[in-house]
Amino acid sequence: MVKVKDFIQRFEQFAPRYLAENGDPIGMQLGSTEQTIHRALVTLDVRPEVVKEAIAKKIDFIFAHHPAVFRPAKNLVTDDPQNAMYAELLRHHIAVYAAHTNLDSANGGMNDWLAEQLQLQNVQILQPNYRRQIMKLATYVPQANAATMRQALAAAGAGQLGDYTAASFSYAGTGRFTPGTGAQPFIGQIDQAEAVAETKVEVVFPEDLTNKVLAAMFSVHPYEEPAYDLFHLDNKTGEQFGIGRVGEPQQQMTIREFAEFTRAAFDLHGLRLVTQKPDELVQRVAILGGDGGKFYPAVLQQHANVFVTGDVYYHTAHDMLAAGLSAIDPGHHVESIVKAKAVPLFEQWAQAADWHDVTFMASTLSTDPFTFIN
Ligand SMILES: [Zn+2]
Repeated sequence: MVKVKDFIQRFEQFAPRYLAENGDPIGMQLGSTEQTIHRALVTLDVRPEVVKEAIAKKIDFIFAHHPAVFRPAKNLVTDDPQNAMYAELLRHHIAVYAAHTNLDSANGGMNDWLAEQLQLQNVQILQPNYRRQIMKLATYVPQANAATMRQALAAAGAGQLGDYTAASFSYAGTGRFTPGTGAQPFIGQIDQAEAVAETKVEVVFPEDLTNKVLAAMFSVHPYEEPAYDLFHLDNKTGEQFGIGRVGEPQQQMTIREFAEFTRAAFDLHGLRLVTQKPDELVQRVAILGGDGGKFYPAVLQQHANVFVTGDVYYHTAHDMLAAGLSAIDPGHHVESIVKAKAVPLFEQWAQAADWHDVTFMASTLSTDPFTFIN
């Protein structure tokens, strides 16, 4: 069994909320986090036709890339099609969760999926935006309890250094204390000064694991009042996140050929090419799913000469050309790759965490509002 809140907890380890841009209405959108998920639907957009599909498929949870509730509702009058859609979702007990710009920045998330589809090599982050902080915990236990403590901390994920796990440092010392009235000491007597041979156990872990690691420590610490120190480290070794990706094409191609390749890779009827030099060779390619136009200075800084992004504005296209950059606008709907990529990922998590009786499936509808007429 898996509840919506369990899924969210797992998902947000992968794409933490703090990666989202300010004001992006990500997260739980409709329904209850206490609901059990049996049948989950992955979609790019939550549209009335997708909700119909969900009802027909007896879905109880929708995972969407684009937030279903993007602009605040001013009322809940269901004559409005958007409100009617919310009402349908609630009436059928379909919970909705959205991961938008946090999924764009996640490692192994949206922009990596898009880069993979274009077979880019040596993929790097286009614009770094957050580095996970590293924490250190030191705790003091009687020497006989040190091994149990180390095991518990490692089981909670502490002590991962590159390819190494269960890393820790321990040293021996003396702990001193005097239990007062009301204390129920594990070692020692009331009002008698005590000296205990203790071990100080130190571990490091990413900030996201803080609660889990502390809970593990408290669960095996024998003392009534566990002594511990928790530090923020300045080590710049935490996982780096960022928006967009840059990489090199797998084979030598001109910009026009790469545009053709992109069209085929995303199975599109057409796309928009912004270039003054279609016969120039592609050096490096930047990709940022939807509406990435404003990031073109970062693309130049990363020495890419082609920028693949949706929703390029007319004037931004002029600016890119003037800066010597070419762009390929395959449309925002290329992000529907979320359907093909998220389903197997969630299935993996379900297997690893032993979530029973849950099926993840992709919406079979296209939510692209645009049609090309040749
Ligand atoms: Zn988008």
